[in-house]
Amino acid sequence: MSINPISAIALKLALDEANAGLPPEQQTRDPQRLVHIVCAWCGKLIRYEIWPEPQPGSVGGNVSHGMCPECARKVEASMGLGSTK
Ligand SMILES: [Zn+2]
Repeated sequence: MSINPISAIALKLALDEANAGLPPEQQTRDPQRLVHIVCAWCGKLIRYEIWPEPQPGSVGGNVSHGMCPECARKVEASMGLGSTK
């Protein structure tokens, strides 16, 4: 199986970013441990993470959800936080 060159570069950069700031023993080049954290509200990519366990069957395609700062502000506002009504 081959991976196209653009995907290979994107994967390398994503791994670089996910490994940045991690202690050496937690760093990995295993694409099965790379996870995209996307905003569950707007779908924007927030950051990359390395998971402790490889996820079988997916190569750099793991997705987990979080909330970007923009959406956090909107949701807080919609719940009436930060304003007294
Ligand atoms: Zn968002």
